[in-house]
Amino acid sequence: MNQRIVAVPAAVREQAHIDDAKYRAWYEASIRDPDAFWGEHGRRIDWFKPYTQVKNATFGPGEVSIRWFEDGVTNVAHNCIDRHLATRGDQVAIIWEGDDPADSRRITYRELHAEVCRMANVLRNRGVSKGDRVTIYLPMIPEAAFAMLACARLGAIHSVVFGGFSPDSLAGRIQGCDSKLVITADEGLRGGRKVPLKANVDAAIQRLPADSVDHVIVVRRTGGAVEMDPVRDVYYDAAAREVTDECPAEHVEAEHPLFLLYTSGSTGQPKGVVHTTGGYLVYASMTHQYVFDYHEGDVYWCTADVGWVTGHSYIVYGPLANGATTLMFEGIPTYPSISRFWEVVDKHKVTIFYTAPTAIRSLMGAGEEPVKKTSRSTLRVLGSVGEPINPEAWEWYYRVVGDERCPIVDTWWQTETGGILITPLPGATALKPGSATRPFFGVKPVVVDGDNKVLEGACEGNLCIDESWPGQMRTVWGDHERFVQTYFSTFPGRYFSGDGCRRDDDGYYWITGRVDDVINVSGHRMGTAEVESSLVAHPKVSEAAVVGYPHSLKGQGIYAYVTLMQGEEPSEALRKELVAWVRKDIGPIASPDLIQFAPGLPKTRSGKIMRRILRKIAEDDFSALGDTSTLADPGVVDDLIENRQNRA
Ligand code: ATP
Ligand code: MG
Repeated sequence: MNQRIVAVPAAVREQAHIDDAKYRAWYEASIRDPDAFWGEHGRRIDWFKPYTQVKNATFGPGEVSIRWFEDGVTNVAHNCIDRHLATRGDQVAIIWEGDDPADSRRITYRELHAEVCRMANVLRNRGVSKGDRVTIYLPMIPEAAFAMLACARLGAIHSVVFGGFSPDSLAGRIQGCDSKLVITADEGLRGGRKVPLKANVDAAIQRLPADSVDHVIVVRRTGGAVEMDPVRDVYYDAAAREVTDECPAEHVEAEHPLFLLYTSGSTGQPKGVVHTTGGYLVYASMTHQYVFDYHEGDVYWCTADVGWVTGHSYIVYGPLANGATTLMFEGIPTYPSISRFWEVVDKHKVTIFYTAPTAIRSLMGAGEEPVKKTSRSTLRVLGSVGEPINPEAWEWYYRVVGDERCPIVDTWWQTETGGILITPLPGATALKPGSATRPFFGVKPVVVDGDNKVLEGACEGNLCIDESWPGQMRTVWGDHERFVQTYFSTFPGRYFSGDGCRRDDDGYYWITGRVDDVINVSGHRMGTAEVESSLVAHPKVSEAAVVGYPHSLKGQGIYAYVTLMQGEEPSEALRKELVAWVRKDIGPIASPDLIQFAPGLPKTRSGKIMRRILRKIAEDDFSALGDTSTLADPGVVDDLIENRQNRA
């Protein structure tokens, strides 16, 4: 196990909101008396009518019901925009960096107010009001944030669908929540390539009953020619000219739904995760402030897509509620050059940078030079989210990107949790590469064995959370029973994350991956993340995905998909070398039985490896791969099938 400890740099600690002593004191208070703790911190946002009740939640067994600040009345758009106008109307709220480096835009809070009000009026003119669902299918352009905030302003519930999703996935998500209005763009632009968003919307609507969608609003992004239905469709610029830039913010109850977001589906049928207003905003803004140690004047950049929960909580809602300057990037890390991320950091003087391990690993493949030729001297805090970050990638991120100056916050959370649950705090937490470290305030992780017995001290098992936190999802849209079944029935009375973890002697958490991904080799259970981490530590390997497959002697065998660093060639010798490498690193039990060299792995647009597809191919059963339309590049699947190693 990696035992390296990176102490909190004195310079970071001195100016941080939270040091170790404060972390411990606040954490203890938050667990001892959640009502008092959250009662105080809930006031970080504005309330039209203050709450008198704080927490009201039960995880069962039996009824599961989660409410926070329930008699309070507020509005998210008011909190993210209006309340800042008096003090920071001329401060930049959103820096937009286009796909083409020549394209960028700076939007002040005052301009944001006008844009959001206009968009809200356009929606209101088309019959949208409190409680209605609006589907947003936009690229990473400022209008995506305007649209989300416009819905929030009206009390309408948005459902953002990734711009990369196919017409089928989009149709299912429109129908799933019965939304009558879709906001899209003519085309998206990523890495110089056009994405036919409006055409996808047309194709999606064709699959739905005739009266499903009444209005499609089309933002002009590329100006490309698209078909417009004269009754149903309208260009946003035309509609916006007909309305004013003033629109009052609807007063909504704390538990009024703010948005629903379908899970990425990397583990099964997508669920409409429902997040509500008050608790969500309190939690998103508070985690944004403390996890990234956000201060006035910071330029904060989260590279996620707004179609992912990370984009909701940490591009839009958390940062804007804090009056921050948040950067929104339309493009990809490798266009027009592999230095793009770092060029953008220098161009906009980014101080806080938050990305995913998959991005780091793919950039590592091109070596240090494309990073080192940029300055990055403004960076102060780095973040990681989405998957376990293997120590190899962590070290590269720390040393090459951060020049050993910037703490890395490895943030563990889920669509369902609304915000970050387990994470270091830059000024408080000594880091261990590969560990998400300690729980955020108010979060009570427990590790249980298969019989729901709570394990104490250093241990390994299933990661559950006892006790609600304000940002928690409230239900599955239209199917509360599925909510209860999915999250509260495996270990009755607790929220089960679906992830496994290890807790070490210092109380630090190490996420070992999804419990479903645990493989059982000759009676030994092991997390696939551990084997992957070992493979990726090999200097020639850039990415690895490990799954189990039926093995006549061992029960399950280990099947590894390996992507090599640029310039490395697959060979029989390398295959043997990798097997020996893992054997030496973890032990003979973990040696891969089969290794497939793969130029690419199937990923969702949020960068998650679609393991269910890899499992099928490893089982030599690729007739039923399920829905592959949500993949970033469905083409990689054919190559994987053709070169599969197990021909049963
Ligand atoms: P679906 O639920 O549809 O199958 P998903 O779980 O990939 O998709 P998300 O909610 O975006 O969708 O991802 C949450 C999961 O990502 C966590 O349950 C965990 O497995 C993984 N994860 C996120 N952050 C981290 C992290 N810092 N360390 C380890 N794992 C992480
Ligand atoms: Mg999940």
